[in-house]
Amino acid sequence: MKSVQELVNLKKINLLDFDRKGLEAFFVKLGEKSFRATQLLKWIYQEGITDFILMSNFSKALRAYLTEHCCIVAPEIVVEKKAADGVYKWVVQTQCGNRVETVFIPEEGRGTLCVSSQIGCALACTFCSTAQQGFNRNLTTAEIIGQLYMAQHRLGRETKVTNVVMMGMGEPLLNFDNVVAAVNLMMDDFAYGLSKRRVTISTSGVVPAMYRLNELCDASLAVSLHAVTDELRNELVPINKKYPLQELMAVCRENAKLAPRRTVTFEYVMLDGINDSNEDALGLLQLLKTVPAKINLIPFNPFPNSSYRCSSNNRIHAFKTLLNDGGIVTTVRKTRGDDIDAACGQLVGQVNDKSRRHLKLATQSSE
Ligand code: SAH
Repeated sequence: MKSVQELVNLKKINLLDFDRKGLEAFFVKLGEKSFRATQLLKWIYQEGITDFILMSNFSKALRAYLTEHCCIVAPEIVVEKKAADGVYKWVVQTQCGNRVETVFIPEEGRGTLCVSSQIGCALACTFCSTAQQGFNRNLTTAEIIGQLYMAQHRLGRETKVTNVVMMGMGEPLLNFDNVVAAVNLMMDDFAYGLSKRRVTISTSGVVPAMYRLNELCDASLAVSLHAVTDELRNELVPINKKYPLQELMAVCRENAKLAPRRTVTFEYVMLDGINDSNEDALGLLQLLKTVPAKINLIPFNPFPNSSYRCSSNNRIHAFKTLLNDGGIVTTVRKTRGDDIDAACGQLVGQVNDKSRRHLKLATQSSE
């Protein structure tokens, strides 16, 4: 396989950039039948064949055309780390020297891949280290689905990725089209065929995009809530200033009506002395009274220069008990891969920041 940069230089069309609909349109444009799309998906995602010459159900002329004008390129792994608990972190190279991170979390009976959607993140959640990196650009569909493609190749046939969570670097719903196309491929029977329940998009609460998602994509949804008052959420998840809690709850209610979701999962990071009191737990029960919800408490994972601390185990347990007693199924996310900085909120990659956030942060801290 040629390197990413070589292919960019050749300006070939990367066919990992298209979901089934996109490929159908592509083949029809070439004067081919649309079913070529499903044939191609099977070659790429099920057979692992990327050499067009080997695609034996295509005519010679089509194979030659695809070889000349197209390519199938996933991002390349440049660093691999394996944690004591079996978690893998892969640093993958995208075009223009940026790097993003992908994490594989093996568990009894399943394997979850945590996929990045952007190079850095344009949002400024104060407890997340990706946010401190600034933002470069959206990942392409090829770079998103390519993370699953390269992970599955690296893991081999024995270890299957059974679940995908869009919880790596970036805000998936601010890269809507590319994320939806990649998620479609994850769920397409001719590609990875993962069930809707096993593919989760996590969002900080981009309300208009959440309405669009309701119409266009039936993957599962997780919402990063983290606070029960606008005042605190404005600080922790600043996009709340644009889309406050009431609007967020309204779209979540709509979302939960759609099968297969029926419930929305709310993520809630446990920050010592910030959002972890009994009062917060009762506020959470109140806020979610009209939304069919599950709650996933995430112990805060520290990173360099972060000013927060994780709530104690006792506090997390008491918080969880209050929520469960109040009638909302609540789980605590196991911290995995933290010895290699692969845990939630610890992914940083290498981001050539175009938002100049680090300059702003440097100025703020010297004021
Ligand atoms: N932008 C998306 C995906 C981000 S990461 C979103 O906001 O949902 C997935 C989860 O990890 C989010 O709930 C995020 O708030 C949480 N997270 C971020 N930083 C964290 C940290 N340092 N410790 C624990 N969880 C964190």
